[in-house]
Amino acid sequence: MDSENQPVDFGNRRVSPSEKTQLVGSVFRSVADGYDVMNDIMSLGMHRIFKRIAVEYTGLRPGDRALDVAGGTGDVARLMQDVVGSNGLVVLLDINEAMVQIGRDRLLNRGKPEIALVLGDAEVIPFPTASFDALTVCFGLRNMTDKDRALEEMYRVLRPLGRLVVLEFAQPQEDWLASSFRLYQRLWPLFGQAVVGDPQPYRYLIESISKHPSQAALKQMIEDVGFNQVSYENLFGGIVAIHKGHK
Ligand code: SAM
Repeated sequence: MDSENQPVDFGNRRVSPSEKTQLVGSVFRSVADGYDVMNDIMSLGMHRIFKRIAVEYTGLRPGDRALDVAGGTGDVARLMQDVVGSNGLVVLLDINEAMVQIGRDRLLNRGKPEIALVLGDAEVIPFPTASFDALTVCFGLRNMTDKDRALEEMYRVLRPLGRLVVLEFAQPQEDWLASSFRLYQRLWPLFGQAVVGDPQPYRYLIESISKHPSQAALKQMIEDVGFNQVSYENLFGGIVAIHKGHK
């Protein structure tokens, strides 16, 4: 089997890369309608604060160009648009049509029609080299089939010295916190059943979090594609972490 077809993790299962892409697609198609409500319930609203911190770390200024990779329903793109203003540009890129449609409606309802929504794959970003001043990927990298390739693409489309910010679930730094978080996660499929009528995507979410690289391993992956001055900060004791670096 050539390296492109090596099995990859889909939660606790090992599947072919093409199967993972399809399975992740069906997860986000089935949760799209209840996605935002579930985020608020599962994170007790904390995801909003994490996203604000991530946008601060981009160092964006008025007039800048920003790309939100795996932007989903547009939370982060909206925050970035507030910073770059009408002379700047924010593009939301996501592979899943259902998520992008919900994002489009939300952004229109919130008076942000200027954000460009692009349906596309982070592993083949449909923009020229050095197009953006900053790039975010929030709770998205974990779902990508070939994370190294996606990171290489993120590096390519940033301008020299452009900023990368990755917000993702991580490994809690204290045992008591890790076990409390695991206990709390047991509720997620029940919430999923109640809100979107399907517990399965939330079982995948729990498994995918446990399979995601540690903070140190992700830092190394980001450095390996060429980013400089890569560092990370744990939030909430390492339940999530923000990695940042520049081209
Ligand atoms: N960034 C948003 C947020 O923080 O609310 C959405 C995060 S959601 C958990 C993950 C998103 O990643 C989904 O919208 C999914 O469609 C997208 N995604 C997964 N694989 C992708 C890929 N290869 N390219 C682009 N988007 C992808």
